[in-house]
Amino acid sequence: MAETQEPTVVFGVVNETSETESRVALTPDIVTRLRRNAVSCIIESGAGTAAEYTDEDYEKAGAVVSDRATVLGKADALGFVDRPSAGTVSKLTAGQWVIGMLGSFTDAEYIDALEQAGLVGIGIEKLPRKLSSAQSMDEMTSQNSVMGYKAAITAADAYGSFLPMMTTAAGTIRPAKALVLGAGIAGLQAIGTLRRLGAVVTAYDVRPASKGEVESLGAKFLDLGLDFSAGQGEGGYARALSAEEQAQQQAAVDKKAAEFDIIITTAKVPGRKPPVLLTAAGVKGLHRGAVVVDCAASELGGNVEGSAVGEQVTEGGVKLIGAPYLASGVATTASNLLARNVADILVHFIRDGKLSQDLSEELDDALVVAGRAEVVPAEELATKSE
Ligand code: NAD
Repeated sequence: MAETQEPTVVFGVVNETSETESRVALTPDIVTRLRRNAVSCIIESGAGTAAEYTDEDYEKAGAVVSDRATVLGKADALGFVDRPSAGTVSKLTAGQWVIGMLGSFTDAEYIDALEQAGLVGIGIEKLPRKLSSAQSMDEMTSQNSVMGYKAAITAADAYGSFLPMMTTAAGTIRPAKALVLGAGIAGLQAIGTLRRLGAVVTAYDVRPASKGEVESLGAKFLDLGLDFSAGQGEGGYARALSAEEQAQQQAAVDKKAAEFDIIITTAKVPGRKPPVLLTAAGVKGLHRGAVVVDCAASELGGNVEGSAVGEQVTEGGVKLIGAPYLASGVATTASNLLARNVADILVHFIRDGKLSQDLSEELDDALVVAGRAEVVPAEELATKSE
């Protein structure tokens, strides 16, 4: 990043704390980092409290702490852990920028509303994650990694025995057998953490490349005897399986699942409802005391039939934990990583001391999801898409 310059851009963050959210999109060290890049920060009082960052910490770092209305009114750009609610959008004025997980793949109406309001929306979900210049901006990677770690801790906490093998005077306790379904960013972190806790770990992913990654962490790859490699999705991501393939996968997973004490699921396909990997019948086959943590649980359903968002339900002695918000449970560090991701996106769009979306780079083109029409002439856009 550049030498310290006089601040010209104001970056604002409001309080997003709720029952399930403790994170904040700005942390004090990032205030300092942004200041070096000609950005001054304004934050709503109490926004960082749940993540253990006080108003004084922000002030000491050089931010202005104020009320919500002032932050919304003064900021040139606002950063969000999630995205601004419709109520918040209604308080913003044309020309302001919002950076967050805007849901551009799934919620066209919301993006239209941003556009109607004349806002410039930067959708982090659209980040071209494989570009090396995008690595430090990748909130999905930083937060999924935190989620995978916390999923392992959550499972260990809910499980009624040790994870490692223990030899005691009163007998030897066998290690827990854990299965991780979906071995992407979250899954790999869950594998590493479960292994460090002493569990014997097996993992499965539909992407052929994941076998080597799983094994390099010392876990066993679960062979379901099925090959879905033909037609793998774009950019190294999983594709959605056909109904027939999904049924085959479910039958195979249900059968194998009965051998495990702990199951963590993290399987997703970008822009789609998460696939069901473990059916109600599979859950029924697990032994009493088994723990299942479904990180993909959502209002649309998760990887495990019967899991519910934010709840722990017990089915036949099996604990089903629907836990999509786990990164919020490591709020201090998760916020710090997330704030760095958001700040790097912001700084990327500052050209000559001003926010600019001249779409000169691959990255801009992918990220700007609303407000584009204001700046780029239609003929130029037409040429661009050819
Ligand atoms: P994600 O959160 O979308 O999905 C999680 C995992 O679920 C993925 O590994 C996916 O293959 C798996 N999955 C989907 N459907 C499944 C099914 N039916 N059965 C079993 N598993 C299923 O993805 P993610 O974790 O963010 O990343 C996925 C891939 O992208 C990884 O290979 C990761 O290394 C790669 N990635 C690369 C970069 C980079 O190059 N910088 C950055 C981010 C991610």
